[in-house]
Amino acid sequence: MKLFSRLLNIAVMLACVSFIVAAQSADATVKQLSDLPKIKQALDHLKVTEPETIAEQIKACEIPAPTFLEAKRGEWFKQRFIELGLKNVRVDKIGNVLGERPGKSNSTMLVLAAHLDTVFPEGTDVKVKREGREGSILKGPGIGDDCRGLAVILAVVRALNQAKIETDGTIIFVANVGEEGLGDLRGVRHLFNEELKGRATHFISVDGIGLDVTNTAVGVVRYRATFRGPGGHSYGAFGLPSPIHAMGRAIEKISRFEVPKQPKTTFNVGKIEGGTSVNSIAHTSWMEVDMRSVSAAELDKLEAQFKRAVQDSVDEENRTRPNASPIAVELKMVSQRPAGVQPADSPIVKTALAAGASLGFNPKLGAGSTDSNIPISLKIPAITIDGGGDGKGAHSLDEFFDTTNSHLGTQWALLIALGIVGVK
Ligand SMILES: [Zn+2]
Repeated sequence: MKLFSRLLNIAVMLACVSFIVAAQSADATVKQLSDLPKIKQALDHLKVTEPETIAEQIKACEIPAPTFLEAKRGEWFKQRFIELGLKNVRVDKIGNVLGERPGKSNSTMLVLAAHLDTVFPEGTDVKVKREGREGSILKGPGIGDDCRGLAVILAVVRALNQAKIETDGTIIFVANVGEEGLGDLRGVRHLFNEELKGRATHFISVDGIGLDVTNTAVGVVRYRATFRGPGGHSYGAFGLPSPIHAMGRAIEKISRFEVPKQPKTTFNVGKIEGGTSVNSIAHTSWMEVDMRSVSAAELDKLEAQFKRAVQDSVDEENRTRPNASPIAVELKMVSQRPAGVQPADSPIVKTALAAGASLGFNPKLGAGSTDSNIPISLKIPAITIDGGGDGKGAHSLDEFFDTTNSHLGTQWALLIALGIVGVK
């Protein structure tokens, strides 16, 4: 039976059939792909060389890369891309590292990306420690998010090369900057607005640990509101409007906002500061506010409501103290990530699910704010997938990565990528 299917596969290879997702169901495509000897070879290679993948994960992670300071880790990546034989290896204007593996046709251009940056500031100890039985647990800041994703994309290139797989479409491998926090997806934004504008047809970000798919892009908008007034002595200058009092009014209004449970929409005043002493009417105060929704329309509504609440609070405070110089507020948007959904029945999601099933697991679909937000908002098929393994503590100094069966993550990424670009 095995021999027969092997012969059949060779016949299929000789016929030089290329599989393209659109032509048939994702399940059938993935099934045909995973039966091809070369692909089996690549999958086996990934399993056997998982220790190598883990070694690269550690190596990448021990090069500090806070958001906006990713250059050193990027340089290491550029070197690896060159060593792995990728074409047109380059660092773009914003710091993304790109390397291409050209296909036989221009049918598709898949971007397979992982983010370089971490939430940890300069000076953080990024040494990775091995713990647990036979050192199967890796402990270190960023080890899962996203050193895992970075290692996975390198492993995929290695396996494609080792099994000499020629793809139909092109894969562009990217180690991108600016995913975290105030990086605000600047790396991927730049890819789609400039570097690869109008060229990329599909996008996959490998981000973090586990074996699930993020297909819902949670939209985020963040503001810093700065209130300013004349300020003065709490007793002597009593009667002046207070930036802190105005901000208090605003926070009270915001706390009473009503938002839908579905589509999930949230708000939070996360940070406040202001004033100089207990016996001074403050001359400044500020707050930072985070608003999110999976619905772009709900997020717009919430944002408008927030702006109104802030302005109304300033007006109220000024009205209460009519005979003094008024206070004013400045609103600055500090972060914005578009919302959207990659539908569960779209080929890219179905391919990810089928690839998982063929490897023996069933990925769950979920929501998050990731690099895929950008292409999803541009209607370019995109998902974010986990990089395999297990663990906890993303964005904390106690982050750890459990390597048990982590090769499934690299195998999964490879199969999905091939399901999208097709094999010659
Ligand atoms: Zn991440």
